[in-house]
Amino acid sequence: MRTALTALLVCLASAAGAVIGSVLRFPTVGTAIFYPPYAVVGAALLLSEPRRWWIYLLSGVVGSFVPHWLYGEPVSFALMAEIANCARALLAAWGVRRFGDPRRLDTLRGMTAVLLFAVVLAPLAAACLGAGVVALHRGAGSYWSAWRPWLMSNVLTGLTVLPIIVLAATRLTSRWMAHFARRWREAGALLLGLLVLGAAVLLEPTTIGASLYAPLPLILWAAVRFGPGGTSVAVLAVAVLSIVGVLGHRGPFVTSSPADGVLHLQLFLFAISVPLLLLSALLQEQRRTADELRASQEQYRTVVEDQTELICRFRPDGTLTFVNGAFCRAMGRQAQELIGAFFWTFVPPEPRDTQSALLAGLSVDRPLLTWEHRLLGAVGDSRWEQWRIRAMFHEGGRVLDYQAVGRDITERKRAEEEHALLESQRAHAEALREADRRKDQFLAMLAHELRNPLAPIAMAVEILRQVPSADEHVGSARDIIGRQTAQLTRLVDDLLDVARITSGSIQLRKELVDLARVIGSTLEISRPLIVARQLEVETDVTPGALTVKGDPVRLAQLFSNLVNNSAKYSEMGGRIGITVRRDGPDILLRFKDAGVGIPDDMLERIFEPFTQVQRPRDAALGGLGLGLALVKKLVDLHGGSVRAHSDGPGRGSEFVVRLPAAAPAAGLAPEPERATLGAAIGARPPDAAEALRILVVDDVADAADTLARVLRFRGDTVHVANDGRTALNLAAQHAPDVAFVDLQMPGMDGLEVGRRLRAAPGSGQIL
Ligand code: ADP
Repeated sequence: MRTALTALLVCLASAAGAVIGSVLRFPTVGTAIFYPPYAVVGAALLLSEPRRWWIYLLSGVVGSFVPHWLYGEPVSFALMAEIANCARALLAAWGVRRFGDPRRLDTLRGMTAVLLFAVVLAPLAAACLGAGVVALHRGAGSYWSAWRPWLMSNVLTGLTVLPIIVLAATRLTSRWMAHFARRWREAGALLLGLLVLGAAVLLEPTTIGASLYAPLPLILWAAVRFGPGGTSVAVLAVAVLSIVGVLGHRGPFVTSSPADGVLHLQLFLFAISVPLLLLSALLQEQRRTADELRASQEQYRTVVEDQTELICRFRPDGTLTFVNGAFCRAMGRQAQELIGAFFWTFVPPEPRDTQSALLAGLSVDRPLLTWEHRLLGAVGDSRWEQWRIRAMFHEGGRVLDYQAVGRDITERKRAEEEHALLESQRAHAEALREADRRKDQFLAMLAHELRNPLAPIAMAVEILRQVPSADEHVGSARDIIGRQTAQLTRLVDDLLDVARITSGSIQLRKELVDLARVIGSTLEISRPLIVARQLEVETDVTPGALTVKGDPVRLAQLFSNLVNNSAKYSEMGGRIGITVRRDGPDILLRFKDAGVGIPDDMLERIFEPFTQVQRPRDAALGGLGLGLALVKKLVDLHGGSVRAHSDGPGRGSEFVVRLPAAAPAAGLAPEPERATLGAAIGARPPDAAEALRILVVDDVADAADTLARVLRFRGDTVHVANDGRTALNLAAQHAPDVAFVDLQMPGMDGLEVGRRLRAAPGSGQIL
């Protein structure tokens, strides 16, 4: 539809153009000064796809053929002339499309292509062909007389009407119209001036030849202010005036020969329009480039202004040439005050020298640099900034200026510092844990090594007790050694137990136990101290009613630690109360005394190893601060908890142990093995008739020998072995009733010896 309409328009415009062309002839010369159908068809081809060209060529041919024919031209002439016209339009369209851009005629390249193809080559080709057609019809002599006007009329059309149509079709946008509306007064004044001046000069009967250049400044004005379109319009106006002048035998183009006058006119128009069209295209292009540059600068400015980073540019001597809003806000000054200031005044003095040296090291290959510095505030606060600097270089490689982008990185720095602190704390904590592990290992080893000599010493004291001595000094020395050894053994045992629990090597032998019975064992263990301190112990516990799942030996040990503490920290002759009660799913055991009490802030901490509030008055009762740590660990192993209460120093203390209750079984577990052993040895009166055969196995010879001696005092037959193999041989020979086997021995250890003894025929009942 659009193509059809355009074709119709081309046809009608060509017809009208052909009529105008026929009218605008010099009567005496008989040639057209303009030939508008060229501009119409040429513009149609320039602005359409080549596949549609045939349609517009055909419409143009039909349009311009009809008037020719009507004016009485022979049909063959009119048709052949149209072939020349088609060739002209085709060459112009092809050339401009190939080497320029029809939609960008107002660029230097586009205008050059138009001038070259549409103004020079296509008219030349048309003139050669057209003059040939004329020669064919009027005789060879008419070739050159037809060639020149044919050429010049097309040249003028190509210079004026063609660019006007193409530019109007491509540039008459609403934006252009708005732009023009702002300048219509100027355009009107220009056109008026051109017409008045042109009329004065070109239509004046007595004008001299040189005055034809009078309109030039106005055409130049059009070229500078209104681009190629305006130039073409101005040239067209001058052309129309000149033609009118020539037709009326006025103006500078009236010469003796009308043909020369026309030629002068055409040459004049050609000569002024070519450079002005090129100039106007060049100016237009520059104007567009400047507009684009301005738009892109504006864009850059808004982007830079909206940044939260501080952005500035400064020359190599440090003079600031640009600052953005963020920079101004950070420095608390206006942009006008900052431009021209010294960049380095905004950098702290210490890193300034290093940083300016780094800047000097930037090169075209390495134009970027980043640094961070701390800014100290007035009130002792500090801020961190990061600056990223890019050097801009001249073509010669010299630095033009620097672009600096700064940002506040205080938060990031703070996070890094916190991270580093945490890391060092973590490392410190790990080092402490490691030291703690080593300490535990050391204590475990120390306790173990101390325990070894203690056993033979205790046995040796026992032997001394068995041997009556007349000398009372010897007796008292022996008692001192006995007491101190017992004290030392107790300390070392605590140490050993804590180390074992910490390393996880302690194992509970849990069974259903009656707490009344365990309290009984506890009091038995603590009896020496209770007696020594002349304490009265009140117990409130119902036998058989309150049972827990636990290791009776360890439970008795932990309770006796509490009872011993009560004894140690009570006055001589004081009272200790022990109650055992059910509390929901648990059983609560309370150990209460009226002793020195515990300060509030120590109630929790006393359960930590080596923590002591005060030492007992009797130095012999002093410990290492491990008793309660052991209590807590053992209670934990039983799934319970322990807490200390006190109303303060001097007002007594209470320790509450909470253990999960177990339903009492019909028949409680048998007495522990220790009791059987007690029955076998301790409970038996020393002078009882039946003597036992006992095997003592220990790689520490002193320990084995002293124990053997003690046992022999009691009348038993004792054999000693210092390693597992000898022990098995002796057992095979003597079939002992009881064997004391040390566990840790080189080669075969105590457990293995025990297993083999039990496995040996006839010795399965060995205790
Ligand atoms: P120690 O071997 O020093 O007795 P413990 O771990 O048994 O170590 O006790 C830690 C500290 O708790 C003791 O030094 C003592 O000051 C305080 N303490 C423990 N039991 C009592 C109590 N019944 N009355 C007052 N203070 C106590």
